[in-house]
Amino acid sequence: MSENKKGLLFVLSGPSGAGKGTVMKELLKSEPMELSISATTRAPRAEDKEGETYFFKTREEFERMIENNELFEYAQFSGNYYGTPKQYVIDRINAGKNVMLEIEVQGALQVKSAVPEAVLIFLTPYTVSELRSRLEGRGSETAEQIDRRIKRAMEEIEYISAYDYIVINDKIEETVDKLKNIISSEKAKAVNNRNIIKKFKGEC
Ligand code: ADP
Ligand code: 5GP
Repeated sequence: MSENKKGLLFVLSGPSGAGKGTVMKELLKSEPMELSISATTRAPRAEDKEGETYFFKTREEFERMIENNELFEYAQFSGNYYGTPKQYVIDRINAGKNVMLEIEVQGALQVKSAVPEAVLIFLTPYTVSELRSRLEGRGSETAEQIDRRIKRAMEEIEYISAYDYIVINDKIEETVDKLKNIISSEKAKAVNNRNIIKKFKGEC
């Protein structure tokens, strides 16, 4: 493989409570993939760790990141800012690593227009009642916050046609397999393997 081959950019979206975090944690156990860590102004949850799940910022700090053009994309979600620090993504892709952004729909659309070859995946359970029961089971939001997230999910589902793949998260292991299949198909695309021509001809 050519040393200067760039990594691929993947985006995973889906309603809050769909299982994105859970599935990514499983996927990363066996898939060489770098997960971008977002900045956010939302309050940390019990399981959150600064610099591991998010970089937690004040609104002022976040707005300074916007002004300084430090974000690849950003959006407001449930009253808070969320955004992807730009430099990390650029560095990892240039280093040939595949990168996954776990972001909501407005951010995903910004990524697709900046990087058309980015692969957009939408994860969802089959029904909104299953979504609600997962959010209630997670126990990290108040009833009012859950209602807001469900309402937001109804809006987000309208955007699925902008995505390249839809994955139903029913059984976690099967979902991970589906994601691995998507990733390996994308890696195998001819457009992502132009270096093979040179290699075949012995020029690298
Ligand atoms: P998200 O990151 O999309 O907001 P989480 O990964 O936090 O969602 O998952 C929300 C809740 O649903 C968690 O309590 C998680 O354990 C549970 N969950 C995730 N995937 C599944 C699944 N396939 N079946 C049942 N419960 C799931
Ligand atoms: P949560 O508060 O549950 O961690 O995340 C709420 C929503 O924000 C989720 O849909 C998650 O995918 C999205 N999100 C997390 N990080 C980013 C980001 O950097 N940019 C955007 N646009 N959305 C994000």
